[in-house]
Amino acid sequence: KVVFPHPKRTRLIAVANQKGGVGKTTSTVNMAAALASHGAQVLVIDMDPQGNASTALGAPHASGSASVYDVIEGRCGLGDVISVCPDFSTLDVVPASIDLSGAELEVADLPNRNTLLKEALEQFLQQSDKHYDYVFIDCPPSLGLLVINAMCAVTEMLIPIQAEYYALEGLGQLINTIGLVQEHFNPVLLVSTMLVTMFDRRTLLSREVYGEVKSHYPNIVLDTTIPRTVKISEAPSFSQSVIAYDPRGIGAIAYGEAALEFAKRSPNVLEAIDARRKAH
Ligand code: ADP
Ligand code: MG
Repeated sequence: KVVFPHPKRTRLIAVANQKGGVGKTTSTVNMAAALASHGAQVLVIDMDPQGNASTALGAPHASGSASVYDVIEGRCGLGDVISVCPDFSTLDVVPASIDLSGAELEVADLPNRNTLLKEALEQFLQQSDKHYDYVFIDCPPSLGLLVINAMCAVTEMLIPIQAEYYALEGLGQLINTIGLVQEHFNPVLLVSTMLVTMFDRRTLLSREVYGEVKSHYPNIVLDTTIPRTVKISEAPSFSQSVIAYDPRGIGAIAYGEAALEFAKRSPNVLEAIDARRKAH
């Protein structure tokens, strides 16, 4: 069995791209599950009112049940709404319910509206008995207040990019928004990782998209790409990651390799974050 290195301190990662359907949730769930399956202690926070990450990790999230919505609105702490993923004992989940769709308006007038998640996460990590190696936040497909909260709460961004014709369209806008968050709220924030998803090695287009993204962001894009496979898209309907649903399939293997590459970068990434912190 491959040994995954553990990061020296907790890595906090927001998985974002304002485009829908590019593989944010799939990548959050399966990177987290792959790391947890190799012994890392992982927390996934679902910040999308659709609750797809909650579904895929087997966390109950019916409307009205305790979720990240209650945390954002200050009714309880993150620790009060955590459940453990049934497939991996070291994978914890903070679910999102559809109620979260009301939060953006409900907290809009609070002076600390951008840092509600950051405050809750800091408090939780300080008080928790567990040490987490990775905290992933799955973002909704927008650049609204929930995403800003995620960007303020973390030190790293993971951007999934779908291998399709319009892949780079909208990326500029996302990078601009990250720049604004860096300028106003979170100067330490680092775009550490891009992951090309739904890659089809038989098509020239997929290879061209990969080449183009790689040439723009050579040190950020993972060498590993995620192939398009039916098992990856089936797994959520069984409330499972593909790591649990089809552990020997090419989807699970690809996410396993991406997670290993991601874990191996930890020393460099943490150093880059420290350098940003020093500069500000
Ligand atoms: P997002 O969170 O960015 O909206 P999702 O992760 O939900 O995107 O993915 C969008 C759709 O594509 C989902 O139905 C998902 O199951 C499917 N999907 C994602 N990655 C793959 C893949 N590598 N192979 C096949 N289907 C995929
Ligand atoms: Mg999603």
